[in-house]
Amino acid sequence: MKLIKLLFILFITFTFAQNEKPTTILISFDGFRWDFVDKEITPNLQKIIDRGVHAKSLQPCFPSKTFPNHISIATGMYPENHGIIFNDIQDKFSNKQYTLKKRDEVENSRWYQGEFFWETAERQGVKCGSYFWPGSELKLKYRRATYAEKYEHKRDYTKRVNDVLKWLDLPDSLRPKFITLYFDATDTYGHKYGPDSPENAKAIALCDSMLGKLVNGLTEKQLISKTNIVIVSDHGMTNISKDRVINIEEMLKDFKIEINNTGPVLTINADHSKLNQIFSILKKNENHFNVYMKENMPEHFHFSKHPFIYPIILIADMGWTLTGNKRLNKWMDNYTKGNHGFDNHHMDMHGIFIAAGPSFKKNYRCGTLKNIDIYPLLCEIFKIFPRQNIDGKLDHIKFILKD
Ligand code: AMP
Ligand code: ZN
Ligand code: ZN
Repeated sequence: MKLIKLLFILFITFTFAQNEKPTTILISFDGFRWDFVDKEITPNLQKIIDRGVHAKSLQPCFPSKTFPNHISIATGMYPENHGIIFNDIQDKFSNKQYTLKKRDEVENSRWYQGEFFWETAERQGVKCGSYFWPGSELKLKYRRATYAEKYEHKRDYTKRVNDVLKWLDLPDSLRPKFITLYFDATDTYGHKYGPDSPENAKAIALCDSMLGKLVNGLTEKQLISKTNIVIVSDHGMTNISKDRVINIEEMLKDFKIEINNTGPVLTINADHSKLNQIFSILKKNENHFNVYMKENMPEHFHFSKHPFIYPIILIADMGWTLTGNKRLNKWMDNYTKGNHGFDNHHMDMHGIFIAAGPSFKKNYRCGTLKNIDIYPLLCEIFKIFPRQNIDGKLDHIKFILKD
């Protein structure tokens, strides 16, 4: 009898605790630099700041690119550990290539070695919805959220917000409690016109207005006080120029090399016997970039462990572009004004972290947070067990939660 009573109490406590978990919406404004909020064109972000937590910035992982960082946010792991080391990856062992345009590869689990928050949560009884997020569209059903929208670059922004609000109208047993939502505008316009251009200012204001629509919808549904809103970005953006371009292949014309990735970071593979010679030439010409052998990559980049990382890594100085013969002309004809991917310790590469809702402290300002710590933070909000092999640490971030 006593045992039945105990089980009943446990059941009630568990059920109650599940229902008590606030809905959490994680929003990404791609390429939204940490200081864009100072432009005074983001009244809706300001309202969230006024009632919640605002970190000085959110530090991305290296390289400060879109897929590696969205996946670090969602898994709590460095790219060298979750496997999405760039937006373009060459698997030199099986000769397969991952690029954002190859949908078959983007949806193939073999590239993704981390566990996404929605996997952790669903396994522990929390329904999730992903309204776009890199890594959210894997073919294996058990690696996706219950509701997972396939990425459509041109999908109307208002529709994205309205569809998320519709998910929240579902009956409690079907309603997702964790939702991701993604907008590319500040990345798209930041690249094309530069981070401080009037065109990008419009993109910033557009993202902000979408947040306003979401908050209005939540308010109408009387859900605002029960919902955590967490706004992040994957990286910042800096100005680049046609006058700051280096053709690395030109320096190495006596060697047969393979280049993977160009721009702020360029990586090189070549016959093993030639690597030291290639490295010496690059080292002698190390001007406006730094060159490292993979095994000597400084620890703070956390970018050496993964087998798909090429043996030589070059990192351009801020605002410089590293390229090879093939890409040089294409780039010169079609050059963009902004880019990211550079050293993740530089402030221009930092993104935003703004959050408000029942789980967060009110009117709280803090220093830079690291994006790998968001996964354990989400696990704490939902009171679920995180994976043990992650890089993020709850201790580094939990002070932003209510005591
Ligand atoms: P990048 O600026 O090269 O790091 O990549 C940014 C681009 O990633 C954006 O312009 C988006 O179009 C694209 N992107 C974002 N999410 C996805 C997704 N789930 N699937 C494919 N492409 C995406
Ligand atoms: Zn991005
Ligand atoms: Zn970008």
